[in-house]
Amino acid sequence: MRKKIVAGNWKMNLLNAEAIKLFTEITTSLATVKNVEVLAFPPSIYISELSLIESKIGLGAQNFYPKDKGAFTGEISTAQIKNIGVTHVLIGHSERRAYFNEDHSFLKEKVNSALDYSLTPVFCCGEPLEIRESNTEFEYVKNQLIESLFHLNETDIQKCVIAYEPVWAIGTGRTATVEQAEAMHAAIRSWLKEYYNETIAASISILYGGSCNASNAKELFSNPNVDGGLIGGAALDATSFLQIIKSF
Ligand code: PEP
Repeated sequence: MRKKIVAGNWKMNLLNAEAIKLFTEITTSLATVKNVEVLAFPPSIYISELSLIESKIGLGAQNFYPKDKGAFTGEISTAQIKNIGVTHVLIGHSERRAYFNEDHSFLKEKVNSALDYSLTPVFCCGEPLEIRESNTEFEYVKNQLIESLFHLNETDIQKCVIAYEPVWAIGTGRTATVEQAEAMHAAIRSWLKEYYNETIAASISILYGGSCNASNAKELFSNPNVDGGLIGGAALDATSFLQIIKSF
C-alpha cells in the first residue's frame, strides 16, 4: 500500500512567529489524524526552530544546493539541511525551474545529492499552459521525468515521491479537473511501469498540486492514482490545511 501524503509548501511566506504558530496549530490538530503522512516545507531559516517542536509533521526543505560544502555564497548545502532535521526536499518545482533556471541536469544532480543524504525527493513535474493547449502535456511531463528522475536504479526510485503540478494551476485558483489529474497520474504510473516494473509503479506516491484546497481536495484525492497533495496557498491556513488532510 503506498503512502497517502499531504505536504504544505509555504514558499517565501510568513515571519518567524507566524511560522511557529502555523506549525503548532497543525501539530495540535494532527493528534486525531491517522494514515496520512503530513509534511511542511517552511522557509529554511525557520526549520531549526520548528524541529524543536514535537510534532508528527515531517520537515522538508524547499531548496538546497547539491554540494557538501564550499564557496557557494548564499547557498545551503544538502549536508546542512540534513543536519537540522530535514527529511524531505522539493526538487523541480516550477517556480525554481522558471525563476532560477534550474534545468534538467541540475535537477538530476539535486535528486542524486538528496538520496546521498537519505533525504526523500519530492520531485515536481508539470506542463505550462501553452504545452497543455498544444496537447503535448504527456510527452512534456514524461520528458521531465526521464531527464531528471528515471536514471535512478530500482532501489532509489522507490525512495522518491512524485508531485504532478500543472503550471497553469499553481497559485491561479484554476485547478485541473478530476479527469485531467487522474489521466496524468495514471500516465506517470504507466511510465514507472515502463521504466521499472509494476510493483515499483504501484508503490510510489504521486501527489497532485495546483490550487488544491479544502473544497476540491476530496474529489481530487478520490482518484485511484492521486495519493495526496502538494499544497501552496491553502497550506498557510491551519484550518484549510487540516480540512485537506482530512479529505481522504
Ligand atoms: C505549489 O506551489 O506547489 C502549489 C501547489 O501552489 P498552490 O496550491 O498555491 O497552487
